[in-house]
Amino acid sequence: MHLSGQGFGGLEHKFSCTLNYPRFSFRSKEKRDRFMQLVAHEFFHLWNVKRIRPQALEVFNYEQENYTPSLWFCEGTTSYYDLLIPLRAGVYDVQTFLQGLGKEITLFLTTIGRKVQPLSESSWDAWIKLYRRDANSNNCQISYYLKGAMVSLLLDLLIREKHQNQYSLDDVMRRMWEEFGKPEIGFTPQQLKSVIEEVAGVNLDDFFERYIDGVDELPFDEYLKPFGLRLKREDNKWPDLGMNVVTNNGKEIIKFVEAQGPAQLAGLDAGDELLAIDGFRVSAGKLSDRLKDYQPGDSIEVTVFHHDRLLTHQVTLATPSPSHYQVVPLSSLTLKQLENFAGWLGVPLDSI
Ligand SMILES: [Zn+2]
Repeated sequence: MHLSGQGFGGLEHKFSCTLNYPRFSFRSKEKRDRFMQLVAHEFFHLWNVKRIRPQALEVFNYEQENYTPSLWFCEGTTSYYDLLIPLRAGVYDVQTFLQGLGKEITLFLTTIGRKVQPLSESSWDAWIKLYRRDANSNNCQISYYLKGAMVSLLLDLLIREKHQNQYSLDDVMRRMWEEFGKPEIGFTPQQLKSVIEEVAGVNLDDFFERYIDGVDELPFDEYLKPFGLRLKREDNKWPDLGMNVVTNNGKEIIKFVEAQGPAQLAGLDAGDELLAIDGFRVSAGKLSDRLKDYQPGDSIEVTVFHHDRLLTHQVTLATPSPSHYQVVPLSSLTLKQLENFAGWLGVPLDSI
């Protein structure tokens, strides 16, 4: 374990792992929980990735890129379990689990690249994209860790609902272990799909086509409903400008401009130095507060330096964008939903 200034991450090995975590981040419960997820993640990799691994990664070639569409299962499914394992181990309670799930869903549903890049492509292009991010990445990419975890959640719920919790994604992992992990022979994308289908007892062509090889929106509510849960969306309290700004060496720099958002439609660009809104200086920290003075549909003047050239753009503000999502219980619950929830997470739903 490397206790560092501010680094975060881990790396799995076959008989060990390295963990990198900020040394002063153990006092708050939230950060301690995050650390336990990191431990769970790397520990889970002893099975998933170090032994259960795609055929394409069976013989590592350090000299060249190794292509596979299955990293969503290697990293995404591991990420789903890193949220679940501390709950099962009694490290945190079910509220913490559901809050963590809400945070992941928020990150996913506020990343516009989910509508552009399919999950299997995100995995395939890991070599040129995920680890080589630029100002436009959030517009055209989605992390296979993040969406892989979301898809794993849906698959777990699908299997559990169909079999009244008699089977789950755990059985997929066990089968993958028996068939491919123990003998260390590697699996193909087709074999992975077959194992999931066999456990689920249904054909998943449509599921894979839409959510793994396609960019259809993930139907969270449809899958959460049998477990007595739904997504609750909250929006920002200011109209949307469609860009993020950071303070960098005393300058206010536009860090991200959302594709087809108000700022981009008006011609603003990532890297521009933000100077003023309607003639008054504005900072990154005060931007959202200033926007509260306006309504969606209002036109504002945004002044920037674009490559040292002073420009003023007319931007039409849009309706507020979602700020976060929470996973909450439905208002009225059936006996079946209560049973499903308890079968999935091990505690009664009415206890939260
Ligand atoms: Zn990992």
